[in-house]
Amino acid sequence: MSYEVDRIKEIECPCCNGKIKQTSESNDWNQTREYIEILCDECKEKYEIVHEYYNPKPKHDYTIYYCKNKINGQKIQLDL
Ligand SMILES: [Zn+2]
Repeated sequence: MSYEVDRIKEIECPCCNGKIKQTSESNDWNQTREYIEILCDECKEKYEIVHEYYNPKPKHDYTIYYCKNKINGQKIQLDL
């Protein structure tokens, strides 16, 4: 069972010198997955990606992604 890429979205990274890339994939069973990559050496050093999953009611679930500063734990919400 292989996944196919549905969508790629890129936004600026927190230092604005690189990108953060989100790849959304799905397979024939309508299973989806997505992953986030930091395409910036500076931000890769400084941040890690964390996410919070919300499910207020069925079919309205969503995930918010953050860049979390590895040193002080500060989180920057990503516009993904
Ligand atoms: Zn950066």
